[in-house]
Amino acid sequence: MSKNWVVVPTCLPIVLRRCHACASERFRASGKFRVNANHKLIDAWLLALCTVCGETTKLTVLERMNVRSIRPELLDLLHDNDPGLTAELLQDPVVLRRNRIALDWDNAWRLDTGGSDHLEGEAIEVSVRFAARIPVRAVRLIAEGFGFSRAEVERLIIEGNLVSTVRLSGKLSGDFTFTLKR
Ligand SMILES: [Zn+2]
Repeated sequence: MSKNWVVVPTCLPIVLRRCHACASERFRASGKFRVNANHKLIDAWLLALCTVCGETTKLTVLERMNVRSIRPELLDLLHDNDPGLTAELLQDPVVLRRNRIALDWDNAWRLDTGGSDHLEGEAIEVSVRFAARIPVRAVRLIAEGFGFSRAEVERLIIEGNLVSTVRLSGKLSGDFTFTLKR
């Protein structure tokens, strides 16, 4: 028996960065961009707001890029404050590294399992697909998907009844499969 699960984002993650105004460490993307053209060079930022005091911080999207090297569609999306672009940029490892930010995905995703399961007898192979790069603890994901406790999932892994080609003890953010033996 095989199943397909999907990890789906339900809202934007929180951006973790220290606020200079109030020392909070949580920002929410505002959905707005600022674009600054200086001769042929373009800078663009995604604006985020402190969840406590509302202070604005700027996340660099483009840094002194020659206008001719930028896809015209990207400029349109920036000028239109495109919500899809915000979501895409927050999943881009280059953007996260450049701005030295991490994300908090708690309460910003759900697991679609395609309905309840009859866990009787046969082994179950589950393919997990990530609709966005959301780091999730594999143990937590599997527990949620089957309605097990995390301790139960950990016991199944130790007993060798829950196996995968990836390490199930840490966080994963890319597609993987695992098998629950019976
Ligand atoms: Zn603040």
